[in-house]
Amino acid sequence: MSGIPLFLMLTTAIAIGWLLGRFQRLPNTSASKNIAPYGAGFLVSDVPDHALDSFLAALDVNSDTLETHLALGAIYRQKGEIDRAIRIHENLLARSELTKVQHDLSEFELATDYQKAGLIDRAEKYLQNLVESSPVCRKPSLMSLLEIYQQSKEWHKAVNVANLLTEDSSDRQLKKEMNRLRSHFYCELARIAIVEHDYLGARRSLSRSEQYSANHLRSELLRVELELILDRPNKAVSGLRKLIEKSTVFPDAMVSLLEQMSKSLGGKDEYRHLLDFIYEKFPAPDVVRLLFSELSLSEGQSEAVRFLLDELSQHPTSIGLKEALVSGAYSDESHPLVPIVSALISREEQAGRLYRCGSCGFSGHKWHWQCPTCHRWDSMTYVSESGFFGVDKAS
Ligand SMILES: [Zn+2]
Repeated sequence: MSGIPLFLMLTTAIAIGWLLGRFQRLPNTSASKNIAPYGAGFLVSDVPDHALDSFLAALDVNSDTLETHLALGAIYRQKGEIDRAIRIHENLLARSELTKVQHDLSEFELATDYQKAGLIDRAEKYLQNLVESSPVCRKPSLMSLLEIYQQSKEWHKAVNVANLLTEDSSDRQLKKEMNRLRSHFYCELARIAIVEHDYLGARRSLSRSEQYSANHLRSELLRVELELILDRPNKAVSGLRKLIEKSTVFPDAMVSLLEQMSKSLGGKDEYRHLLDFIYEKFPAPDVVRLLFSELSLSEGQSEAVRFLLDELSQHPTSIGLKEALVSGAYSDESHPLVPIVSALISREEQAGRLYRCGSCGFSGHKWHWQCPTCHRWDSMTYVSESGFFGVDKAS
């Protein structure tokens, strides 16, 4: 320590001292979760590596200072200085005087460092060990593993972790949340099975999904899709109609199903009746567009245009306007302004039709069942020009 400039030691001492005073008041197991609101980062940000190492070597590890070590590591991790956080936690684990609980806490913090650094294999190894051996760190380790397996899309492993989280728990809220997640995990497995043409496997996964969450919108939509793939359009129509009947919202996922249906059922009564029924309940721009196409096919262009003009007078939307322009309802199709206005409307649609996460505020043009930013399920809602249509969060 003698080679360290005095002012650096002083800065480090002020930081550590401040933290000691701050974190001695925290409960023993709370350092990692409660660190975020504290603003001591500026105090430790300029401490050079050798000063930090010397200071850690000089600071004994005991029940009074453990929180300080953990807090310091958490601050570095939060600031993105993962290598320093790892050094602090590895330093702790090298101390033989740690109790079992202190050792487990340090190991959990190190695993969190590795997870944040993207060293997932190492994080997974530590976390799996803690699940087996540490009553104190079992639940937070399972929660971290759940996060890891969702991000890596290892759905079977994610289901297993959710099972472990609930098997000994009396926490009703946790059980409810895990049921919701397992429903989605099995829907993900069903989707993979559909892509691999394993339709029996898809049905099995959908049944499991429904075990965890009855009337789960996503699994019911996948069932309709499966009927279409298996060339049973009438079953698909009746399935979708039942979903629409009980739904209070019109999720975007239904639009792509209707588009698929139009390929095999376009011009047929059952599809037309389904569209009429949906239009009655949810006169969304996409339904107007699909109904316009269907009317053009089954009843001719003039009837379709009459419907569109009537609809536009009640609910003017850019989708409707575009269809009207393209169909020649508003002006001569050959007029040079028509393609220009149509292109402008397309741009406006792209800019105006957003999906937004109600949890973190992420927005984008693509629909996600799980927000790509905060990783919450069922948090995206769809904003259209003529109204607000969201995913039914109760499903
Ligand atoms: Zn989000």
